Amino acid sequence: MDKLIVATHNQGKLREIKQFFCDMSVKIISADELGEDSPRETGKTYRENALLKARYLYDKYRIPTLADDSGLEVKILNGLPGVYSARFDGPKATYESNNIKLLSKLGNKSDRRAKFISVIILLSDTIYQSIGKVSGRIAYNLSGVGGFGYDPLFIPLGYQKTYSELACKKRFISHRAIALKKIKKIIKKL
Ligand code: IMP
Repeated sequence: MDKLIVATHNQGKLREIKQFFCDMSVKIISADELGEDSPRETGKTYRENALLKARYLYDKYRIPTLADDSGLEVKILNGLPGVYSARFDGPKATYESNNIKLLSKLGNKSDRRAKFISVIILLSDTIYQSIGKVSGRIAYNLSGVGGFGYDPLFIPLGYQKTYSELACKKRFISHRAIALKKIKKIIKKL
């Protein structure tokens, strides 16, 4: 495979995906570079949304296309924000407003268990899927400046620092890295 479309406008995700594949000769083309917008994420599951995003560009360009749909599931909030992670604070949500909303929903609750999930679809002649999960907890305050989304609040199991504070280490241990590992093996064979 010499070209791969990455169906995302999320610069944080794109950066992580590009870094993950930086030792491969495949040329990564983003949805922005193609001047494409994104389809509405109407799916009820990560898989449905990832497939929707991948299909939108694969059907048009017929170049193998990768899409990630991901979310943060907080146990005491019955799995929310989950598939609604990007828009947790409503249609005009920003990373900051989502984080503030999450902190206010949790208040001082001591059960702060959460997990991050990434479902990656690689669409070519076949649909390949890979899932990465990382358990952890939600911090009481925002910490760190790296990354994106809920990174300043999520402390992965086995660490005392948020994804943001872990900075480039995130690229090796994250839910996305786990999911991308399997996809990388598939890409090498295609
Ligand atoms: P979607 O996959 O485009 O629907 O968006 C997923 C949302 O989940 C993002 O906008 C972030 O808010 C959040 N998210 C997904 N992955 C990460 C991550 O690695 N760090 C922090 N937030 C993330």
